[in-house]
Order: sequence, then structure tokens, then C-alpha cells
Amino acid sequence: MNKVLAGNWKMNKNRAEVKSFFEQLPSELKTNNKARAIVAPSPTLMETAVLSAAGSVVEVFSQNCAFEGSGAYTGEISPMQLQDIGVTGTLVGHSERRQYFGETDASCLKRTLKAFESGLTVIYCIGETLEERKSAQTNQVLARQLQLVVSEVLPHLPAAEGAKERFIVAYEPVWAIGTGLTASAQDIKNAHDFIYLEMSKASSKVPSILYGGSVKPENFAEISSTPHVAGGLVGGAALKSADYSSLWKTLLSK
Ligand code: PEP
Repeated sequence: MNKVLAGNWKMNKNRAEVKSFFEQLPSELKTNNKARAIVAPSPTLMETAVLSAAGSVVEVFSQNCAFEGSGAYTGEISPMQLQDIGVTGTLVGHSERRQYFGETDASCLKRTLKAFESGLTVIYCIGETLEERKSAQTNQVLARQLQLVVSEVLPHLPAAEGAKERFIVAYEPVWAIGTGLTASAQDIKNAHDFIYLEMSKASSKVPSILYGGSVKPENFAEISSTPHVAGGLVGGAALKSADYSSLWKTLLSK
């Protein structure tokens, strides 16, 4: 299980703010690669982030990626275009993409396969809504969201130990994203155990599983100590260098 801290900046920041984020990072993030540090800015900010991250261990990811390599796909960005500016990975299937932009399990699989085939790392996001949780459907929803990747992606994961993981799963209960509500330690454990089990049916090398949903410096020590939690996918608390660094230090201490 490789440790990962991934910041999803969503539709925030301008170029000056991106530069200042990197200027304020502590020296540890310049050299210590014991956990993978990632930020995912908006498309207009990715190149600035890549340039600013030079000399640090921080990788720049995209928040989404096209399912084709090039062509008539207005508004999309291909894996090749991302790699051209130094981006090394992408989120796929974030709940805001599923909720507002019609992303489905099938389109998420297509994006994952294209990104994966092109050499990008994928952080594949899954999670249940509040209604689904209230009606005791959490595991069913997670199994459905995982089904395609379990059959199409996991059998093709590189077997080499120690190599940077190319496929990572993020469990993000939708009701906990940006709401200040965090899943309880037991909820997180149950979901992570379930996801681990589902994936272990397809591959002996189970991908790292991150938790996301109102992670903050104050609650991350407990969350990151939960079995099968390899780190966090973090929105609001990843915007400021001080919070990001504090989350990083917590993760390293686990
Ligand atoms: C996210 O954007 O994936 C997220 C988890 O956001 P927040 O940490 O703000 O809840």
C-alpha cells in the first residue's frame, strides 16, 4: 500500500496563487518521497503548477481526461496533451463530474483505459450518495462503480513491486464532500474493507485506496490510521500550503 496525498483544487486559484502555494511548501516536500504528493489544478493552471513544482516531489494531475487520444472532442483534454505539459496523472469519475456533467461508470471506464494506456496514473473516485447510504445501498453502489474497473483494469496492472502505482481508488462518500461532514471511523473502515475485498477478487496486487470527504488536519490522523486507508483525496484543506503540508506530515507519521 503506497501512501498518497492528493489535493483536488477544483475550480479554484489563479496562476499567482498557484506559484505562492509552491513557494510556501516546506523543504520536506522538496526531497521526501516516502508518500506520493499530488495536486490537481484547473486546466489553465496545470502548466504553471508543473513549472512551480519543479524541484519538489509534488506531481501535478488533471481533474479529468478525455477517452480519446485526439480529434473532434470539444472541451476535452487528451492524455497526450496532459503529458506534453508534464502532467503525470488524472482523477476520473469524481462525484462532481458524475453529478453535474453526466459521467457514468461506462464513460469513467473509457477515460480510465485511455489514461492508463497512455501512461498516466489514474485516481478512480467512487462513493455513495446520502440517499443510497440511508437506504443501506452503500456496498451495492460501490460494487457497481467498481465492477467495470475490476474486470477491465485490475488484471492489467503492472506487477512490479515498488513501482509507482498507476491505478489508485478514492472512496469519497458524496455526502461528505465539501459539506464538513466526515464519515465515522467505522463507516470508513467498513467501506475500505469492502472495496479491498472486491478488488482482491480480481488481483493479488490490490491498488491503494484513499479516503476523501471533508478531510482536515484535525481529523486526518484518525482517518489515515484506518486499515486499508492509504491516504487522502482532499479538496478544501489542500488549497493552503500550510494545511497541505500538515496533512502530508500526518500521513508520513502513520
Ligand atoms: C474532493 O474534492 O474530492 C473532496 C473530498 O473535497 P473536500 O475535501 O473539500 O470535502
